[in-house]
Amino acid sequence: MRPKNVDRQTSGCFGGFKLRSFVSGKQKQGNEKLPASREGDEKVLAPSRDFDFGIPSEWGLSLEQSSFDSSLPPYTTLVDASKSSAAEQTISRVLDELESELHELSMKIHDHPEIAFQERYARDTLTAFMHRHKFHVTSGYLGLETAWRAEYSYGRGGKVIGINSEMDALKGIGHACGHNLIAASGCGIAVALKVALETHDIPGKIILLGTPAEEGGGGKIILLQRGGYDEMDFCLMSHPGPGPLNSFDIGSTTAVLTFEVEYLGKGAHAGAAPWEGINALDAAFLAYSSLSVLRQQMKPTHRSHGIVQGQDWISNVIPDNARLRWQVRAPTYDELVVLAERVRKCFEAAALATGCTVKIDQDSKLPYYELKNNPILARIFSGIVRTQYGHSVRTNGSAASTDFTCQLCTHCILYPQNLMEMMNFSERCKLHQLATLHFEYWTLRLLSYLVLRGRPKGQQRT
Ligand SMILES: [Zn+2]
Repeated sequence: MRPKNVDRQTSGCFGGFKLRSFVSGKQKQGNEKLPASREGDEKVLAPSRDFDFGIPSEWGLSLEQSSFDSSLPPYTTLVDASKSSAAEQTISRVLDELESELHELSMKIHDHPEIAFQERYARDTLTAFMHRHKFHVTSGYLGLETAWRAEYSYGRGGKVIGINSEMDALKGIGHACGHNLIAASGCGIAVALKVALETHDIPGKIILLGTPAEEGGGGKIILLQRGGYDEMDFCLMSHPGPGPLNSFDIGSTTAVLTFEVEYLGKGAHAGAAPWEGINALDAAFLAYSSLSVLRQQMKPTHRSHGIVQGQDWISNVIPDNARLRWQVRAPTYDELVVLAERVRKCFEAAALATGCTVKIDQDSKLPYYELKNNPILARIFSGIVRTQYGHSVRTNGSAASTDFTCQLCTHCILYPQNLMEMMNFSERCKLHQLATLHFEYWTLRLLSYLVLRGRPKGQQRT
C-alpha cells in the first residue's frame, strides 16, 4: 500500500543505489588493507571496486595489532575466552526466545510509519519493550522529543556498549528503508547482551539510543553534539539494504550535502507586461539545466539531484519566487566540497542571467560524512559470515548516506549489508579509547546472527 503525503525528498540513507564497479575485473589480492577513503582520488575510488573476499584468508583473520594502522584504538581482551564462548550461546538462546517478540515489534513500527522527528509511536512502543526487559528508560533524550535512551548496568567497570535503533520512515513510502528492522534489532541486541552480562558475570553497561530523523534530520549528529555518545566505548547499529542474496557489503556510503536555494524575482502579467517581470522560475530552470550539463563532467561516483518548488504560481503571472532543494553526494566529504562549489556556481549563474536575487543555504551544520569502515571489525565480520554462514562479503559500497558518520568517528564504522537482512554496525570510538576484541567479536557474532535470523516474517523487500 502506498502511504499518503508523498514527498520524495529522500535523503539520509535512503535514496541511493549500489555504486557499480567501474574498475571492472580487478580482484583484490592478498592481504591488502581495507581501502582508506581520505587519501586522494585513487583511494577514494577503492570502495567501488568489485571484489569478493574469496577465501577467508584473504581477509587474513589474523588480528595482530601490529598489522593495523597505529592510529586505531588499542584492542584488549575484556571477556575471558571461556566466558566468551558460553556468552555466545546465551545470546543465541535469548535471540531464539525473543524472535517472535522482535518480529512483532518490527511490524508494529512498520505499520505505523512516522517521519523524521515525529516518531512518537515508535518511541513509545520501543521504550515500553525496553522497560519490560528491565532497562532504565529516558524519553525525550537530550532535548529531542522522540529520542530516547535505555540503559542497563551490570557489576562495576567494564565497557560501555552503545547501540542505535533508528525509527523514522519516509514520506510517501513508509519504512522502505527498513528502519523498523533497525529499531527491533537494536532492542534485540541490547536485551541479549544484558542477559549475557548477567548470566556470565561480565561487568559492563549497555546504552541503547533511539535515534530520530536519520532521513535528513541528522538525529545522531545532534545527539553526538550534545554528548549522547560520550560515555560509550563503542557503538553498534544495523541496517538492511539491497544486494545479492547470501552476500554482505562492508563498503562505504557517500557523504551528502543539501542546498536550499531560493530565487526572488518580480511578478508581472505574463501577457500584458512580461518585460516588467523578473522570472524566478526561469532562474530555477537555468540552474537545473546547468546542473544537468555539469553531470557530464562529474565522476561516476558523484550524485547531483533535486527538485523545483514554487509558491502561488499561475501560468499568466511571471513567477516572483522559486526554490530548489538540491543534494550532492560523493564518496568522501573532501570530494563533496569540491563538487558542491561547482554546483553552487550553477545556482549563482542562473541568478546572474535572469536578474534574480538568490539565497543559497548549504547545510554545513549537519553534513553526513562518508562511512569509514573499521578494518579490524571488517575482518572479523567477514570471517564470521563466511565461515559460520557461508556468505560472501564485498566492499562495493553504496551511494546512499547515513547520519551515523562524523569526523569524530573516523575509522570506527563497519557497514555490512545483505538484501533485506543487511546489517550495518558501527563502532563509535571515544577518541580512540576502546574496546575489546573479544567483546567486539562476540557482539559481531550476535549481529551476524541477527542479520541472518532477525528479519521479520512477512516484510517484503522494497
Ligand atoms: Zn535507512
